[in-house]
Amino acid sequence: MGTTVIDLLVIGGGINGVGIARDAAGRGLSVTLVEQGDLASATSSWSSKLIHGGLRYLEQYEFRLVREALQEREVLLRLAPHIIRPLMFVLPYDASMRPLWMIRAGLWLYDHIGGTITLPRSKTLSFPHMEFSAGLRPDIRAGFVYSDCRVDDSRLTVLNAVSARGKGATILTRTRFEGARREEGAWRVTLAPRSGAPMEVRARAIVNAAGPWVVDVLGHIEGERIRDRVRLVKGSHIIVPKVHSQGHALILQNTDKRVVFVIPYEHDFSLIGTTDVAVSRVEEAARITAEETEYLLAAANRFLAKPLRAADIVHSYAGVRPLYDDGSDNPSEITRDYVIKVDHDHKTVPLLTVFGGKITTYRRLAEEALEHLAPFFANLKAPWTATEELPGGDVGHFNAYRDAMHSRYPGLGRELVEGVVRRHGTRTPTILGDARRPEALGRGFGAGLTQREIEFLVTDEWAETAEDVLWRRTKCGLHMTREQADAVADFMKQGTGTAA
Ligand SMILES: Cc1cc2nc3c(=O)[nH]c(=O)nc-3n(C[C@H](O)[C@H](O)[C@H](O)COP(=O)(O)OP(=O)(O)OC[C@H]3O[C@@H](n4cnc5c(N)ncnc54)[C@H](O)[C@@H]3O)c2cc1C
Repeated sequence: MGTTVIDLLVIGGGINGVGIARDAAGRGLSVTLVEQGDLASATSSWSSKLIHGGLRYLEQYEFRLVREALQEREVLLRLAPHIIRPLMFVLPYDASMRPLWMIRAGLWLYDHIGGTITLPRSKTLSFPHMEFSAGLRPDIRAGFVYSDCRVDDSRLTVLNAVSARGKGATILTRTRFEGARREEGAWRVTLAPRSGAPMEVRARAIVNAAGPWVVDVLGHIEGERIRDRVRLVKGSHIIVPKVHSQGHALILQNTDKRVVFVIPYEHDFSLIGTTDVAVSRVEEAARITAEETEYLLAAANRFLAKPLRAADIVHSYAGVRPLYDDGSDNPSEITRDYVIKVDHDHKTVPLLTVFGGKITTYRRLAEEALEHLAPFFANLKAPWTATEELPGGDVGHFNAYRDAMHSRYPGLGRELVEGVVRRHGTRTPTILGDARRPEALGRGFGAGLTQREIEFLVTDEWAETAEDVLWRRTKCGLHMTREQADAVADFMKQGTGTAA
């Protein structure tokens, strides 16, 4: 890279970093993004995987956030219908909860605050109901149903990076930002690739989108004056065999007034989360604790007809939310909204720092970041990301496209084709080519994952390890036996010539 001066260096390959990199590259800036691990290897794969307004934030008067998030829900559904799908949420009612009138009023507001919506509006339910009382205790007599969406969070991140690259951005994974200082009207930045020697780049502007490490990164930037901080709040999830056979999620109010989601996940499973536990370091959130597991099981079992036990858990994950420190004592009440701060040197050489945010609002956050950067770049093009689909997202009607792919590839089996279409949308033929039989796609590793797709993930999507492939580019790891997962790891080491 030498000493050429690029316009923008983005630190962090989570959803906010890649969203900003994509937006900026599309507006004509030269952009390099560095991510110390894999794309979406932190908060952006630890989420509840919802594109939602956040019904409960209404109670905290977070109207700006809810309005923007609901508007974004509509936008993102259009941009990536292969990885973002509508989802109905059933809220079973019992007398210990918030009063009925309050829930009705909240849902009315939720239906209307974001303006025009294409998803079904909320309804009051009486149970038993043909569809919506599935899995619930028979003594629950009433409830509500409303709409939101689910997302494959790590694929959303990767697809933004693919699009950013398509617009000219350079994406460097496994490359750590080490430090920066202002020098002769630009940033001089030191980067450390995991393999290879440290390197220096010069950049006109820096974006710090390091999520939970945002303050740590500030500590490596000479002369920065940003004093805002993040609060780390741990959130854990458990995955169990699906608790009912219908397509909707449950939103369950717990005795402490928090809500826990039970979300249909990867066809055969339910994803249950989350918790809110204040921690002081990211490392404290590596694993779910026994208390959190009990908390989630108890919250679900208050409403489920068939109680869950710890032995039912097939997988779990935990992570931290890097929330903007607004001074709240209760971790559940700290704002989920984002805050952007810009530090500059006499109106040049800006450092833009992102605090907080949701997956749901990443695209708007990126637009706002670019508004902040506009004064530093004279020829910045207009906002554009609200209308251009993410890679593979130009499917038109998703179900019709999926059916067309099943007809085009009848010999490959439904599981394989379904998985590829859900992950890659209209890029499906790039992977499946003219294959008529699964053998034409090289080795089959189980769960619909083939050698051809892994090679695509390596060459096109920066996958380097088995974990990148099995848990972030796909969720095949959840459906595989230990032996099958080991075979992928061996293949990654030997077959593709990359590290596992
Ligand atoms: C439990 C939980 C549930 C959630 N549920 C939802 C939900 O359902 N819906 C929703 O919209 N949002 C949800 N969120 C919030 C959402 O996940 C986050 O707001 C979002 O992922 C933050 O993205 P980010 O890019 O800011 O951070 P990250 O994804 O953490 O990205 C930051 C990146 O910076 C990299 N980095 C750090 N330091 C360096 C360095 N020195 N050099 C190079 N790279 C570096 C890290 O490796 C990391 O990948 C949830 C969060 C949690 C934890």
